[in-house]
Amino acid sequence: RTGPLSPIESAAVRLYEREAKVYLDRRPSSAKAVASDLPGFLDGMPLHWMLDWPMPAPLVVERAKGATLTDIDGNRLTDFCLGDTGAMFGHAPGPVARALAGRGDLGLTTMLPSTDAPVVGALLAAIFGLPHWQVATTASDANRFALRAARAVTGRRKILVFDGCYHGAVDETLVDLVEGRTVPRSSLLGSAFDAGQTTVAVPFNDLAALEAALAGRDIACVIAEPVMTNCSMIQPQPGFHAALRRLTRETGTLLIIDETHTISTGYGGYTRVHGLEPDLFVVGKPVAGGVPTSVWGMSDAVAAALEKARADRPAGHSGMGTTLSGSALQLACLRACLGEVMTPEAYVRMETHAAAIAEGFSATIHEHRLPWHVSRVGARLEVVFRAEPLVNAEDAHAAASAELERALHLGLLNRGFLVTPFHNMVLVCPAITGENAAGLTAAFDEVVSLLAAGAD
Ligand code: PMP
Repeated sequence: RTGPLSPIESAAVRLYEREAKVYLDRRPSSAKAVASDLPGFLDGMPLHWMLDWPMPAPLVVERAKGATLTDIDGNRLTDFCLGDTGAMFGHAPGPVARALAGRGDLGLTTMLPSTDAPVVGALLAAIFGLPHWQVATTASDANRFALRAARAVTGRRKILVFDGCYHGAVDETLVDLVEGRTVPRSSLLGSAFDAGQTTVAVPFNDLAALEAALAGRDIACVIAEPVMTNCSMIQPQPGFHAALRRLTRETGTLLIIDETHTISTGYGGYTRVHGLEPDLFVVGKPVAGGVPTSVWGMSDAVAAALEKARADRPAGHSGMGTTLSGSALQLACLRACLGEVMTPEAYVRMETHAAAIAEGFSATIHEHRLPWHVSRVGARLEVVFRAEPLVNAEDAHAAASAELERALHLGLLNRGFLVTPFHNMVLVCPAITGENAAGLTAAFDEVVSLLAAGAD
């Protein structure tokens, strides 16, 4: 966002500078470890994203268990970032750790089914409601495969996304809506094609634009997060999902629901909690407790059509699947996570604490009369720097403030709480206690009070 800083944003810049000194003073070992780049890595990091956090230098993690993360300087943080959802159900959950140890002795990958396979298949169908599943390794992979299946089944080339979406490293979804045109996202590197040719982006919650885009009946599928969680947090307006389903059905367009983040909503994800009826369903990241695994499921009708599409082709590479997918390691961890970790009881604890945090944050916002609000989907919540709910990506971009995000992030971190970077998402895992939740709320109050006082 361009334009002059508001008084509270100027206060945020000053607060960040003060907090940066505190942060670095407490982390001599982390600072030393990353000062001259970690040897052997591009950008000195195992993943270049690790440089994108708002703290002055990345912290080096020694261990993470439950909701507690300990860095190499011995600082303990209560983790409300959870690896940006990879550890949504807590770090190193016991059943997953035991499954890992068990498979360690029995073999990790054979490209053949293991004894856990039938149990996992039944769990997936029972929890998420679709009858046919495949295991992949990342949510990006699963989305790519689901999109490919949708094209194969419908014989249509185009897909539709909502402006501001993120579905992983999937070139054709990395687009933006600029002055009514769908164009490749300007930050995207090395793409082989112009995704604007086959992807149509429309604003979230804009049913007229959706209807017009689908009217040509040349779009294979809509791929959507049920709540947009990668562009601040944009909630669907009442009736949006019912209309999305009606319009897709009327035009022979398949609906892919990507629950990778909204799995935080409740047991079975947003789909089960709100009775959505997707044709294809994707969830990755935490589904096997942090072991790289994703799953994608489909309806009877899609499975039958896919079978037919495959029968019409010679045998060979389908472009769906990777060698380590469906491995014994993944199946063991899926079984442990789906059966023993992602339980309805765990969700009750997550939701209870998330609701309390949202209430605490809202009270602070109200007390300081800030034009902000809290958006929440189950165990995931976000502070939005505007009073009214966001309707689409344009609203989200206008409300964003890098200065406020950075200052809040670092201020909370220095008070012992790690939240998700970039847009300050708070993720609540089952290991969070009432005390942790109250601690985060108090830290938020303290940091916001400092900002508000600095802004006067
Ligand atoms: N879908 C959604 C909704 C996501 O938020 C993300 C990652 N943030 C992905 C897919 C991709 O996940 P991964 O990076 O694990 O492939």
